[in-house]
Formats: sequence, C-alpha cells, structure tokens
Amino acid sequence: MTETRAAGATWSGNHRYRATEVQLPADLDELAEVVASADSLRVQATRHTFNDIADAESALVSLERLPVRVEIDGDRARVEGLVTFAELAPVLEAEGRALHNLGSLPHISVAGATATGTHGSGIGNGNLSSAVRAVELMDADGRTHRIDQEHEWFGAAALSLGALGVVTALELQTEPTYEVTQQAYTGVAWDDIVSDIEGVLGGSRSVSVFTTWGDPEHDLVWAKSDIGAPSWVEELGGRPVGDDIHLGRIRTVDNTTPRGTAGPWHTRLPHFRADALPSDGDEIQSEYFVPLVDAREALAAVRALSAAFDDQLLVTELRTVAADELWLSPAYRRDVLAIHFTWRNDTDGVLAALPAIEQALAPFDVRPHWGKAFTLPGERIRATLPRVDDFLAIAGEADPRGVFRNDYLRRTLSL
Ligand SMILES: Cc1cc2nc3c(=O)[nH]c(=O)nc-3n(C[C@H](O)[C@H](O)[C@H](O)COP(=O)(O)OP(=O)(O)OC[C@H]3O[C@@H](n4cnc5c(N)ncnc54)[C@H](O)[C@@H]3O)c2cc1C
Repeated sequence: MTETRAAGATWSGNHRYRATEVQLPADLDELAEVVASADSLRVQATRHTFNDIADAESALVSLERLPVRVEIDGDRARVEGLVTFAELAPVLEAEGRALHNLGSLPHISVAGATATGTHGSGIGNGNLSSAVRAVELMDADGRTHRIDQEHEWFGAAALSLGALGVVTALELQTEPTYEVTQQAYTGVAWDDIVSDIEGVLGGSRSVSVFTTWGDPEHDLVWAKSDIGAPSWVEELGGRPVGDDIHLGRIRTVDNTTPRGTAGPWHTRLPHFRADALPSDGDEIQSEYFVPLVDAREALAAVRALSAAFDDQLLVTELRTVAADELWLSPAYRRDVLAIHFTWRNDTDGVLAALPAIEQALAPFDVRPHWGKAFTLPGERIRATLPRVDDFLAIAGEADPRGVFRNDYLRRTLSL
C-alpha cells in the first residue's frame, strides 16, 4: 500500500503547500494506481521552487521511494526516479562523461530542474532541459510513453512544468569529462561590465556577474573556465576575492565550491557545494529573461528603479542562456540574459516590488523563470511564447482529465 507523508513547504518555506499529503508509491505499479485514481495531482521533487507550481488541490506524489537508476550508454545517460545532480554527476564523472552545464546548486532533482528550464550560465550553453534527448512520461491513465526527439510531444515534454504527467525517467546528452578552474573577482567597474556585457558574460565557459545595483564593493565577476584560470578578468581590473566571499548581502559560510584550482566540471560549475546549505536559505528568488541583444537597455531600465527594491534585495546575479527549441523555454529561439534576484524572505514586500521590475522589462518581451516568484499576468507571458497553443494542445491530449492542472497552470497558461 502506498505510504503518505505531510506535504510541508518549499525549501525556503516561502510557500506552504495547500495539498495536505504526499503519496509515496514504492514502484511504478503503485505510481500508476496513484495517478489513475487521482482527480488532482502534482509531483513534488526536491522543492527548490519559490511559488505554487508544484501544488495541487488535494494530493502530491513523490518518487522518493522509487528505485534510483543511472545507466550510461555511449553519449547518453538515462536517469530514473528522483535523481539529483549531486547523485548523477559523480556517476557520469566515473565513466569519463559530463553534462554541458549545471545550475548554481547540485541539490535539485533532474526531473524538477528540467521541468522548469533551470539553467547555469555561458553564452553557448543552453539550459539543463536542452540536454534532454528523451522523456519517459506516465500519463493520467497510468500509461508510460517514451517521447524522443522525433515524437510530436517532444517540444512540450522536455520542459513541461509537470503539466503532461509524471516524468519517470529522462535521457540526457553527455560529453567527455572536462576540468574547470574558477575564480571570483571584485574591482571590475559596472560601466565596463555593461558596455561589453556579451564579452564579459562570454569570457569563459560560464560567467556570472553579482551586483546590488549601486555599491561597487558588492559587484563580483565569477568566471568558470575550461581552458585554465580565467585571468582575462584581471585585465578588466578584477582582483581575486579571498576565502570570505560575499554574494551581495549574502555572506557565504563555507558552502561554495573551490576557487583557484582545477577540478572536475561538477565540482566547479555549481557555486554551492553539494554537502552544504546553498545560498542564504531564508530567501525568495525571482528571475527574468530578456533577449541578450537588449541586455544594455534592460539593465539600465532595472538599475533606474533599483532604489525602490533595495530594501528587499540580497543580491542580483546576471547570467546567459543559449537559445533552444523547447516551446515553454525562457530561451525559446532567443539567446537570453537572465536577471536574477535573491530577495529577503518577505512575501508581501517581494510581491510589491516585482510589478515595477516587470513593467521596466516589458518592452523586452520579458519571460519569467517558471520556478521563481513573479506577478506577470498569464496573457503577457503567453504573448512571448509563439508555440504556447501547441503546448496546450499536447497537454490536453496527454492529460484529458486535467489531473496535472493546478491554479498555477490556470493562471499562467490558461490551462
Ligand atoms: C538555492 C537555490 C538556488 C537555485 N539556483 C538556480 C539556478 O542556478 N538556476 C535556475 O534556473 N534555477 C535555480 N533555482 C531554482 C530551482 O532549481 C528550479 O526552480 C527547479 O525547478 C527546482 O526543482 P525541484 O525539483 O527542486 O523543485 P520542485 O518544486 O519539487 O519541482 C519543480 C517542478 O517540476 C515538477 N516536477 C518535478 N519532478 C517531476 C516529475 N518527475 N514529473 C513531472 N513533474 C515533475 C514539479 O511538479 C514542479 O512543477 C534555485 C533554487 C534554489 C532554492
């Protein structure tokens, strides 16, 4: 019989799930029974989202009791069950393989991260969903479909917001393993960053800029290079920071990955170590994506109103994501600049600050991070996604009973 536990709250506690319990099937047969008998169900994975995307009217389901498997075959890795990047990466590394990129933390599930378009940085790097080559999806009747790149559902299924059904396994593209050397630098002037934003964010395999929008002491360029130390930042005036690294107003406490020495990709690409609490913990996050070609104007527009949100802000991080072909992707057919905000954990204050930022970014057809806090009306988001109607049609086919729909999907996609 399927066990249950309390649904609880998101990782930072900013959203308490309205669903009261989480069903915990022990195998795929039990999962099929849970799904087929449910009127309303969403998957809860590692809970690192900042809104109600994973919530449901009555119950959630988790794959945490299902077997976890990683199989590597040539340049493909198949991951089954609730696998995190922290679990997957060392298995890939042991076989001489790597992913093209990682997010800022490895603690998150592969299925949950790819469901929302989670990304790292790098001018040539697509988000983590762009590495998906096939999806095994259990539909609302408990039937499993394998959706590869030839399947007509693929553009919807590789980044699905959990709207098509339960992803039971994923096949990912891998590449030969590589080493990364990273360093974080203070002292690069904001004007120099913005005047050549593509040069700075494209200077190494993965580059992040941290800022508090006005205090140069808090501006950091954090570069991750696969061809030796990223010393180009020193030519821009950058000075390596010591051990005591501050990300804006977040003082990290022995939780970041090693800087200044080379190491395997998965030990350097995330900012935060798998064995430590990432970021601040007591926070809310938001993130907006604008075309990279509009980066300068978009940054000027946000900076002009930064005094209005300064009280709420812990830090902003700027990254890039390469264009892809996934219909709900924030990078659908556009190279984008990602403008991220880590906020104090004050829901009312954050929700009051967001509309002005969204208004300032409206001229750039802004798209939100699906897993973070935003107030953009659904019709404005849908207007930026040319294949959204195709996504809705596939969601209707995959889930005709509407089991996997929730308030979030009704609000954002009108699903
Ligand atoms: C400290 C911190 C740092 C972060 N850094 C980054 C970053 O660098 N880049 C970035 O883009 N984001 C980042 N995020 C956001 C986060 O990674 C994403 O929002 C991601 O989606 C979280 O996945 P999860 O499984 O933890 O979340 P969950 O809320 O558990 O799941 C996310 C969504 O996926 C669905 N889902 C999960 N598993 C399945 C499944 N098996 N089948 C169907 N649907 C499923 C859920 O229903 C939900 O809709 C960060 C978050 C935190 C807390």
